[in-house]
Amino acid sequence: MRFADVPGHEAEKQRLRDMADNGRIPHALLFEGRSGSGKFMLARAFASYIHCTDRTPDGDSCGRCAACRQMDEFSHIDTLYSFPVVKKKNSALSDDYAAEFREFLSESPFMDLERWLVKLDKINSQPQIYVEEGNELLRRLTFMTRRSRYKTVLMWLPERMKEETANKLLKLVEEPFSDTIFLMVSNDSRLILPTIYSRTQRINIPRYSDNELCGILIEKGFEEADVADVARQAEGNVNLALKLINESEEHKKFFNLFVELMRKSYGRKVSELREWSVETASLGREGCMRFIDYSTRLVRESFVSHLNVDELLTMSRTERDFISKFSPFINERNVEDIIKLMDTARRDIAANVNSKIVFFNVAIRIIMLLRR
Ligand SMILES: [Zn+2]
Repeated sequence: MRFADVPGHEAEKQRLRDMADNGRIPHALLFEGRSGSGKFMLARAFASYIHCTDRTPDGDSCGRCAACRQMDEFSHIDTLYSFPVVKKKNSALSDDYAAEFREFLSESPFMDLERWLVKLDKINSQPQIYVEEGNELLRRLTFMTRRSRYKTVLMWLPERMKEETANKLLKLVEEPFSDTIFLMVSNDSRLILPTIYSRTQRINIPRYSDNELCGILIEKGFEEADVADVARQAEGNVNLALKLINESEEHKKFFNLFVELMRKSYGRKVSELREWSVETASLGREGCMRFIDYSTRLVRESFVSHLNVDELLTMSRTERDFISKFSPFINERNVEDIIKLMDTARRDIAANVNSKIVFFNVAIRIIMLLRR
């Protein structure tokens, strides 16, 4: 990873370059700032810059020398990665999750913690940096012979270090081995143990501006028309923006499926409804359940709108337009049964009943309910 690969953060890049060029790299440098910025990418680019043997005149690593190639392949022998994990039977080391972490870095370079939990397969857990990891770092930094001028440790989320771990590492951070550089990247530095925090030099990484965020999303292939709203809502957090934009893409798909269901049911197009069931079932179990939640919400909103209560602020314009035309078909004679039908469908799908059959049954019942 080169500085050029990291969007924005130009002033911080320059500060890091200056540190390295002037030989004033602190032994423990803390990148602090809210989640969803390019902090960890910057730390990686800085480590590459430190190790590169052929820096470019414009102040970047070359991307081609042996050190740069090893950094990109995660095989650089003097660079260690340390990050929070969930304890397995007899291991609690970052190294046990090295393959997962590499995948995570390439899938989520802005370090979405939620996605890391999915990778660990532990959505509801609190991953930590355990004392075993502290011992291992100490061992490797003390006994490993190095090939480069420096050994670097890239630590993600030092705020998740347990106290015993911090105590192990204190010696390293306090009386640093002259050839070891800790690069710590924190989302919430107030939670870092004070003994560690006070011994670091800090570099604050600001949030992205709305414009920068739009640029990052467009670079990722999203449409210019779709990104502006999302960028405003996400307040500079790339991970939140990606989550919002993926949700809104999914909602578009759900909306179209819902409109088709209602149109085809109203027109009693049974064979087309069978095809619709197959298509909807292909959303997968979780997707099907989210689709049912979405549909239930549209039915409710349509009923409310039928009562002329103007409370559709949570809907998009397309949804509102549809609802205003559709609402006459949802009334006190059918609304309860439609919602009950959706609830049952959701339960059946959660219980692994064949979703094609569930959706086809829903469609057939809707044909009758819309006529009430
Ligand atoms: Zn290089």
